[in-house]
Amino acid sequence: MKRNNRRSLQARLAVLPHIVKELQRIDKAVPLNEQAGIKTLALDRDNDPVLVPMDDHQPQKKLGHSLEQFPHKNLISLLKFLRSTVGKDGKTGSVFTRLKPKEMGYHEYLDYWLCACGNFEKLEGFNACDSEGNLVSPVPKASFCRCERCGRVIKVSSHTIVGINLNPIRGRF
Ligand SMILES: [Zn+2]
Repeated sequence: MKRNNRRSLQARLAVLPHIVKELQRIDKAVPLNEQAGIKTLALDRDNDPVLVPMDDHQPQKKLGHSLEQFPHKNLISLLKFLRSTVGKDGKTGSVFTRLKPKEMGYHEYLDYWLCACGNFEKLEGFNACDSEGNLVSPVPKASFCRCERCGRVIKVSSHTIVGINLNPIRGRF
């Protein structure tokens, strides 16, 4: 196998655990309408993602064994699709939506920056996050933070609201 192919296969393999995590969250088979001949993507008993064919007589194929058919960018779009899919608990996964950048309000009397929802440091406060609103361990100089009340994502250096993520991945604290 050529070096490039191997590297690209590794990149695809790296996406798999994230797909497993989303399928566990969704907790049901997900229809894959765009894939010819495939009915759903589901987890088998070993928690491996499997492609369930339209034709019941055809065997299920493990996604991990079918990566040759999935270019890296298709796997990434599959992951994004899964993250926006509502699970049994009625929630989607982590979806970041960019908003038109807007500076936070500053409350002179309280001496605090306010989120558009009215939240500020002494109420529900803000947590350190990445540029897509997924929470990260608090660091002294986080570049982004997320409003704990409404999910808006704020660029810390300029106090600018840049997006919103209602159901972020909560990293280890
Ligand atoms: Zn807010």
